[in-house]
Amino acid sequence: MEGLEEAHRRLARIPLLQVTLNEPLWRHTRFGLGGPAAVFASTGDEQAFLEAVRTARAAGVPWVLIGMGTNLIVADEGFAGIVLRYDGGRIEIRGERAAAQAGAPLQSLVDATIEAGLQGYEPMTGIPGNVGAAIYGNAGAYGASIADRLVRVRYFDGEQVRETDGAGCGFRYRESEFKRRRLAGEPWLVLEAEFAFPRGNAEEMRKKAEEILAIRNRKYPPEMKCAGSIFKNLLWDRLPERARQAVPPEMVRGGKVPAAWFLEQAGAKGMARGGVRVSADHANTLYNAGGGTAADFCALASELKRRVRERFGIELEEEVQYIGFREAPK
Ligand SMILES: Cc1cc2nc3c(=O)[nH]c(=O)nc-3n(C[C@H](O)[C@H](O)[C@H](O)COP(=O)(O)OP(=O)(O)OC[C@H]3O[C@@H](n4cnc5c(N)ncnc54)[C@H](O)[C@@H]3O)c2cc1C
Repeated sequence: MEGLEEAHRRLARIPLLQVTLNEPLWRHTRFGLGGPAAVFASTGDEQAFLEAVRTARAAGVPWVLIGMGTNLIVADEGFAGIVLRYDGGRIEIRGERAAAQAGAPLQSLVDATIEAGLQGYEPMTGIPGNVGAAIYGNAGAYGASIADRLVRVRYFDGEQVRETDGAGCGFRYRESEFKRRRLAGEPWLVLEAEFAFPRGNAEEMRKKAEEILAIRNRKYPPEMKCAGSIFKNLLWDRLPERARQAVPPEMVRGGKVPAAWFLEQAGAKGMARGGVRVSADHANTLYNAGGGTAADFCALASELKRRVRERFGIELEEEVQYIGFREAPK
């Protein structure tokens, strides 16, 4: 593609940007599957990143931003465009506030706040990925989410660097304005964010974080090639009557029903397609048991959706993000 070749030449001239051709994306995803990115460019320098985004946009070729690849399913054919990654990872604690660049691991932010005795993010210990992607997907666990303490985000709308506050991020469960903009084809890219916290007891927070990490490591052993929960939990007030009647009251927590419950009823545990399996312990965890392909993943996800649709009349929606597919599995 001529536009892509020209874009590659321009990207290669941007100082501090690392550019490679035909970069295997399975290396950049925890699921460990997916074909190559035609062009892959990464940098920890904000100006180089902005220049790379401008270049990709101007070339009129497909492009996408990834983070640490822990929530991605990449097509076996790969991505016939430009894959960008921003690695700027500075974290600063200023009094009761913390500031983090988008490429900083979320865990480093959580650790820094615990260390400083700033309370609120300790339940998010162990969520993999970076701060930018956590804002994009409003990541959270055990009753906390990134939305809780965020007060300011600096982002790039493709033309200008702008700022917004927490309200401007339009956070909902695993949703944000950043995700909506990307799905609408006009992504807003997080550059940096600021968070404000009440003071807490660092020792108690550390203890809570350790307990949570132990639970998480049992659920998702560090070597498991997976993407966390595949499908979003279901909002109780949006469920059709047929599904509501089936759900035991104790499964409704915080207005949501775990997708895992529906999947388990549908016989998901232990199912497999090729090298991709459903965990025997958690029906909403799919993993690459070795040699898995994106086609295996899609076949399995599609079968799971079909079973839950037929049994409960509900449409499961992915929490994972697809790259390089024409459409998500039905
Ligand atoms: C074992 C395991 C456990 C998990 N547990 C949880 C959990 O408890 N709670 C939870 O919420 N998630 C969980 N996840 C999912 C995952 O950790 C989160 O979705 C995480 O935020 C993804 O971060 P990432 O850097 O890997 O992003 P990627 O997977 O690389 O990308 C995800 C999306 O973020 C977008 N993105 C990346 N950077 C930016 C940016 N700077 N600006 C705008 N958009 C950006 C990308 O375009 C992409 O669409 C889990 C995943 C795994 C593997």
